[in-house]
Amino acid sequence: MEPILIVPGEVELAVVAAMIVFGLALAIAGHRIWKGLMGIIGAFLGFVLGYTLGLVFSGELAGFLLGIIGAVFLGAVFYRLVSTGIALVIAAAAFILLYQLGAGVLISILVAGGVFAIVFLGFERLIALFTALTGASMIAWGLDFLDVPAGFIVLAFLAVAAVGAVFQYLDIERKKKTPVVSHASIMKIDVVKRCPTCGQVLTYVPDYDAWFCYSCGRYS
Ligand SMILES: [Zn+2]
Repeated sequence: MEPILIVPGEVELAVVAAMIVFGLALAIAGHRIWKGLMGIIGAFLGFVLGYTLGLVFSGELAGFLLGIIGAVFLGAVFYRLVSTGIALVIAAAAFILLYQLGAGVLISILVAGGVFAIVFLGFERLIALFTALTGASMIAWGLDFLDVPAGFIVLAFLAVAAVGAVFQYLDIERKKKTPVVSHASIMKIDVVKRCPTCGQVLTYVPDYDAWFCYSCGRYS
């Protein structure tokens, strides 16, 4: 099996060295540096893609030029849009895995595209998109039964799909924004505290973050 992407020999050693350094850094402080790491992964991926393209269509010089452009571009994309970068990396991994297993370029690209959509959109949004399209198809199908003109059916399909998808996306956003009561405040409310003076149960007042005793009439 031919390798899909070409890495120049000089770069290979640097890649190995970088992998050892970043492997250590990742193991020790992964959660602190992962954004920068995504940028580096993007830069590397961009370089390999650019170099491969340049080499295939022109030669070594074009390879290095395109590689550098690709590295800067994808590096910036990955650093800025970490979630997009992660989706791209996972999709690329799926593509390479399938291709190496002999699935053929087209199928590999299709599956990788699907994987990208799932990771990028999130499962919930993907379901929303799928149901919007399915619902619109059912309406189009029903209208076809009623001998409605084709142009109108197409319009109805597009309108229902677009409105449905937007409506569902907004609904998902709204649901995500609903404030979640923090763990700390749940604990405070659940705790039963008693007044050190009279022994009555104290009431927690979130506005003052303090406990009030109604029988003594003062904060404890
Ligand atoms: Zn009291």
